[in-house]
Amino acid sequence: MKSQQIRQQFLDFFAAKKHTIVPSAPMVLKNDPTLMFTNAGMVPFKEYFLGQKKVVNKRVSDSQKCLRVSGKHNDLEEVGKDTYHHTMFEMLGNWSFGDYFKKEAIEWAWELLTEVYKINKDCLYVSVFEGAKEDGLEYDQEAHDIWKELIDEDRIIRGNKKDNFWEMGAQGPCGPCSEIHVDIRSAEEKAIVSGKSLVNMDHPQVVEIWNLVFMEFNRKANGELEKLPAQHVDTGMGFERLCMVLQNVQSNYDTDVFIPIIKEVETITGNDYGKNEEIDIAIRVISDHVRAVAFAIADGQLPSNTGAGYVIRRILRRAVRYGFTFLNTREPFIYKLVAVLTKQMGTYFPELKTQRQLITNVIKEEENSFLRTLDQGLVLLDGIIKNTQGTEVSGKKAFELFDTYGFPIDLTALILSEKKMTLNEEEFETELKKQKARSRAASVVETDDWVILDENDDEEEFVGYDTLTAKVKITRYRK
Ligand code: ATP
Ligand code: MG
Ligand code: MG
Ligand code: MG
Repeated sequence: MKSQQIRQQFLDFFAAKKHTIVPSAPMVLKNDPTLMFTNAGMVPFKEYFLGQKKVVNKRVSDSQKCLRVSGKHNDLEEVGKDTYHHTMFEMLGNWSFGDYFKKEAIEWAWELLTEVYKINKDCLYVSVFEGAKEDGLEYDQEAHDIWKELIDEDRIIRGNKKDNFWEMGAQGPCGPCSEIHVDIRSAEEKAIVSGKSLVNMDHPQVVEIWNLVFMEFNRKANGELEKLPAQHVDTGMGFERLCMVLQNVQSNYDTDVFIPIIKEVETITGNDYGKNEEIDIAIRVISDHVRAVAFAIADGQLPSNTGAGYVIRRILRRAVRYGFTFLNTREPFIYKLVAVLTKQMGTYFPELKTQRQLITNVIKEEENSFLRTLDQGLVLLDGIIKNTQGTEVSGKKAFELFDTYGFPIDLTALILSEKKMTLNEEEFETELKKQKARSRAASVVETDDWVILDENDDEEEFVGYDTLTAKVKITRYRK
């Protein structure tokens, strides 16, 4: 089944269950001080759960453009390395605003997956919230009892607060959730491990596809939970992952969502997909990132040096760098992928069609300017290497190259390792810390593409979901 049909069947199914089908809201948020990008299907409906907006349609369904590259949900470092986390992806969802609750949400999800999409029940596992003492919450027996009518009880797994209790933030609506996971291993692979009585949901080939959130609490400022006046349902299913399952492949990149883009990268760069892991990662990164960048520009977000524009610039530069390093590209080429992307997705997302020329031009210009930076940096690095005695390059010099010329540090490290040289990392970190302190003082404008936000850093320095204040970590290519 083609991805277009898969999306349509989802929407048709919920339309038949009396849901109003709405188009995707923008992926780039303009008026939300806590969030730069829509990172889940529920974001456009936040106010309904909070009771800040009157509900018109109690049942809604859609496919929402999401981006997870910063703040609480940051999947950037997984992208390309694994085959099921993207920066930009579609989240299929159905909502009940004070209407149906657990029973319908679970039964309909099951009906859609097993009867409409005809996924083999033996491949499915579900998780149920195990409870949390600190919140006075017990095991979600209600969800369990609904599930056990549908699936063998040994396929119902207990999930902890991290995975199975969904919260919008430190305060606000929240509730237990139930996730559906699909075992995409081949029959032979399963046979090898069968008999070990294992259900390992952390296995890389047991992939989470759908999260059903039962919103019934409000987290108050003092941390206590109170019951919401109404109960809501918020579900999110990864569209590309669903396509992977239904098209019987083991990677999102082997579905018709990505194949045309990958083919185009192969043609343009002269590299083959599926022969070498490093090249494959680069091709996946580029095929993924072009979508994020194109959709952001279509939403009106141009690459820039601050805020959301900076995040977009960084994603694009990351793609350029992977091309430069692993596919040997020296000319702009990512802009050429916009045509095939538009062909693939422009029917459901017409903004790609109407903005195609702008998207193409902006990406080309960005690629050009970053490639100039890289060229200049290579010459300078060469000079540094020539002036280095021994095999260790000064961290201070490398920092200068990065800080003043915008040359990515991981590229420096890579080039040095190819020349059997090393970088004085301690010295580099010291310089970086100094700079961090300086920029913190000067209210942070980050201008280098390799700085990434680390989810763990959030805990120490939580300043809202997507702010960019000085959370710095070096990304290195793994050789
Ligand atoms: P995972 O554990 O795989 O990172 P998640 O629990 O963070 O997923 P949710 O927030 O529950 O994801 O989002 C709902 C659904 O969206 C997931 O079940 C998954 O199918 C899909 N999804 C989440 N993150 C991504 C991503 N980065 N790329 C593609 N699909 C995603
Ligand atoms: Mg995740
Ligand atoms: Mg998860
Ligand atoms: Mg989840």
